[in-house]
Amino acid sequence: MRNARVWRALLGVEKMVVEGISDEDDGRVLVARVRPSRGALHRCGVCQRCCPGYDAGEGRRRWRSLDAGTVQVFLEADAPRVSCPRHGVVVAHVPWARHGAGHTLAFDDTVAWLVTQCSKTAATELMRIAWRTVGAIITRVWADVEALGDRLDGLRRIGIDEISYKRGHKYLTIVVDHDSGRLLWAAPGRDKATLGKFFDLLGEQRCAAITHVSADQADWIADVVTERCGQAVQCADPFHIVKWGTDALDEVRRQAWNDARKKTGQTTSNGRGRRDSTGNAKKLKNSRYALWKNPEDLTDKQQQKLEWIAKTDPRLHRAYLLKEGLRWVFYVKGYAGKHALDRWLSWARRCRIPAFVDLARRIARVRHRIDAALEHGLSNALVESMNTKIRLITRIAFGFKSPEALIALAMLSLGGHRPALPGRN
Ligand SMILES: [Zn+2]
Repeated sequence: MRNARVWRALLGVEKMVVEGISDEDDGRVLVARVRPSRGALHRCGVCQRCCPGYDAGEGRRRWRSLDAGTVQVFLEADAPRVSCPRHGVVVAHVPWARHGAGHTLAFDDTVAWLVTQCSKTAATELMRIAWRTVGAIITRVWADVEALGDRLDGLRRIGIDEISYKRGHKYLTIVVDHDSGRLLWAAPGRDKATLGKFFDLLGEQRCAAITHVSADQADWIADVVTERCGQAVQCADPFHIVKWGTDALDEVRRQAWNDARKKTGQTTSNGRGRRDSTGNAKKLKNSRYALWKNPEDLTDKQQQKLEWIAKTDPRLHRAYLLKEGLRWVFYVKGYAGKHALDRWLSWARRCRIPAFVDLARRIARVRHRIDAALEHGLSNALVESMNTKIRLITRIAFGFKSPEALIALAMLSLGGHRPALPGRN
C-alpha cells in the first residue's frame, strides 16, 4: 500500500503492517485494515511466547484507536487463536493492544493520563467513552504498572488506614509511605486477611526493614503489624486521634442542640421564650463548621458564632477548647507534645462532659502509641491529605463497576506512577 509508512506513523504502532484504509459513516469513521508484522505473529496473548496456531478464532475484530483530528479511527484485523503450553488456547497477541482490550495501547494510555489530570466529564467527552469504560481501561493500565514490580522496595516508615466507599457500605485498606508521601497499596476489605496480603507481597526481608508503622487504632491492624513486623515501632495516627476529639465535640454539640429544642417545647405558652430558644437551636445547628474548623481558618462570621457559643453555652465552648487542646498536642509534637498531652488528660478527666471523659480513657489506653507518634514526628498532614484525596477519588469513582477500578484510579493518581502520554519521552 502506498504511504504505508505515513499511516503507520499516524496510527502510532510499530510491528504492524497496514493493508488498507477505508472510511465509513460519511467519513466520520476511518478503518485501517492491519496485521502484526511477521515477528509479532503467532504469540500467546498472555505471555507473548511464540506458539503454534490453533484456529481462526471468531474472525475479524476492531480496536478503537486515537482519533485523527475529528475522525474516529479503528484498527481491524484477524484475531486467530494460538495454543500456548502455559495458557492453553488463547487469542493471539497483537502489538497494538493489551490482551482482551477493545482499545489500542495509545488510547488506553491517553485515557489513563486524562483521568489523573482533568475532570470525569472532560475525559469521557474528549475520548467519547462511558465512565465504566474508563474504569476498565485504567484497571488494565494499572495492572501493567503493577506487574513491573519493585514499588515496595526500600520502605522504612509506613501508614495503614481504612477508607470507606459506596456511601460507607464498603471499605478499602490502604498503605502509604511516610517518606515519599505516596500511596503504596490498596485492597478491598478491612480485616486481618486483607492487610496480611500486603505483608505477603512485601516478603519477610522487606518487612524486617520497616521501622515505623502508623495506624488508626483498630485492633485488627495492630495485631497483624505485631505479628508480621514485630520490630517496628507502632504509632498512633495523629489524624485519627484528632478526629476522635472532633467526634466527641460533635456529640456535645448535638446534645446542646437537642436541649435547646426541648426547651422550645416546654415554653410553648410563652411566646417570647419560644422564639429565643428556637433561635438558639438553629444557631447551634449551624455552628458545626465554626466548631470543626481550625481557628486560623475561621471566617469572621464563624468567629462571631464561636464567641456567641462561649457566652450562651459555656459547656459546649469547653468541649470546643478540649478539641483544640488535643489538636495542639500534635501541633507542638515531641517532648512539648507529650507534656501537653499530660495536661490535656488531667483536664479532660475532670471536665464532667461524658464524651470527653470517655475520650480521655480511650486515649490513655493507646497512650504509648501516641507518645511514639509524638517522638518520631510522623507527619499528620500526609495522612490527612491522603485521606482527603482518596475520599474525593472514591466519590469520583462511584460509577465504576469494580473496586479494582477505584484502586487503579487511586494508585495512578497518588502512587507516584502517573501515566505518561503515548509518543512522548
Ligand atoms: Zn502463554
